Amino acid sequence: MEIKKVIPSGYCKGVVNAIRLAKDTKAKHPNENVYVLGMLVHNSFVTEELSSLGIITLDDSKKTKSELLDEIDEGIVIFTAHGISDAIKEKAVNKGLKYVDASCVDVLKTQNIIKDYLKDGYDVIYFGKPNHPEAEAVLSISDHIHLVNNEDTLRKLNLDNPKLFLTNQTTMSYLELKDLFELAKSLYPDIIIQEEICNATSSRQRAIYELKDCDLLYVVGDVKSNNTNQLVQIGKNHGIKKVLLIQSFKDIDDDDLKDVNKIYVTAGASTPPALISEVIEYLSQKTGDQLSD
Ligand code: SF4
Repeated sequence: MEIKKVIPSGYCKGVVNAIRLAKDTKAKHPNENVYVLGMLVHNSFVTEELSSLGIITLDDSKKTKSELLDEIDEGIVIFTAHGISDAIKEKAVNKGLKYVDASCVDVLKTQNIIKDYLKDGYDVIYFGKPNHPEAEAVLSISDHIHLVNNEDTLRKLNLDNPKLFLTNQTTMSYLELKDLFELAKSLYPDIIIQEEICNATSSRQRAIYELKDCDLLYVVGDVKSNNTNQLVQIGKNHGIKKVLLIQSFKDIDDDDLKDVNKIYVTAGASTPPALISEVIEYLSQKTGDQLSD
């Protein structure tokens, strides 16, 4: 049996930067409360590690960012890699809080492109995941931004502004995007479309498409991570017989290793490298085979 790691996989620059910023902030202000508004990156192991350093994550899917911010009276608040609205930043300042913005540069780049089109009088169609913090931050920019999450929601939009711009959340699947963009062009022939999948997401997706003879693909990551879920989807679309999302080696069911010749391991952009190594180590021990190039 062969065990291979998909390259690239795991941490992206935005995640590395956000974790570094959070740790540095606590190290520089050991006597102040440091909060993260939502999960810094979508991985519960990262949240636990931050908690062990005294960094408090405020995360409740039933609460808005503004409601979470209401729970903080003093200290420093860190905004997550997914981006944050200007209104929340302002609210933090008005409450007398200091803040650190860990928004990824790629997320900010997309937001700035959208803002430019809005200034020019465009309505923006944004392809993203409902309730995802990156989409929430974008939607908070203007009422002229319309979220679509599939072809149905795109068809139901009835926009009469002749100036339309379409773009997407940075962690979407390029396959879904292709179909959606084609539909948008047929519905609104003059629409301007700009694909904004970040490099980290697209290179991890494309690497799966290049896999050959893969019998089993483990995708290591958190169920809350959009880019991780997209890797699972891409694996299935690519025709890989078994594609399994696991959070750590503890989720591996040994029965899945039977009658398998080639196993690949990939991971979402927010999955710590140690978790990926543990999965590979576990598989090597179970099968007696080493990781091959
Ligand atoms: S997945 Fe892309 S957009 Fe998200 S943090 Fe990483 S580099 Fe930034």
